[in-house]
Amino acid sequence: MRFSKLRLTGFKSFVDPTDLIIADGLTGVVGPNGCGKSNLLEALRWVMGETRAKAMRGGGMEDVIFAGTASRSARNFAEVSLQIDNSERLAPSGFNEADQLDIVRRITRDVGSAYKANTRDVRAKDVQMLFADASTGAHSPALVRQGQISELINAKPKARRRVLEEAAGISGLYQRRHEAELKLKNTEQNLLRVDDVIEQLA
Ligand code: ATP
Repeated sequence: MRFSKLRLTGFKSFVDPTDLIIADGLTGVVGPNGCGKSNLLEALRWVMGETRAKAMRGGGMEDVIFAGTASRSARNFAEVSLQIDNSERLAPSGFNEADQLDIVRRITRDVGSAYKANTRDVRAKDVQMLFADASTGAHSPALVRQGQISELINAKPKARRRVLEEAAGISGLYQRRHEAELKLKNTEQNLLRVDDVIEQLA
């Protein structure tokens, strides 16, 4: 799986639809202070399922929607679309039906976020899993924020371990283990209830 294009519409300072082509090799983004370079990285993190408004430098998730300027009115929604080259068919099952995979996240004021994978509605969790299994995602150590290196140097061992686990690509397994534990707990509860019923019948 290789990211090939990022499209932003109404996302932060990118009010008009804007495409960032991610070609083979290195892509550099240069520009004056405040032109939106960090917003691009945040868009990438957001479309991969970021849920923490703080990580997007906002107070609430709706702060990613273009807030308006003196000359342009605020928007009602923001949308980020990530085009992924899947010609090698490395996407996990459920996402692996085509050579190109388009993941779209849209947030609408007072409605919230919705995700699509190749026009099909999917859950946030599915998208987060997709990227976690591909050893990337909103928390990937490959996405380095300003100030993150010094944070890492000063981090506690547990936080540092999490970074290593992300890099090793096992964070998706933690999510699956958590889900399996919840199912197990549910089943145990159901078994207790069955025991009660059997006892009443005996
Ligand atoms: P630097 O080089 O200083 O780090 P940068 O190029 O990374 O800057 P960003 O931090 O990505 O710039 O962009 C900041 C700009 O985005 C500011 O002008 C800010 O007003 C604008 N911005 C952020 N959120 C919104 C929003 N919701 N609506 C409109 N503009 C926004």
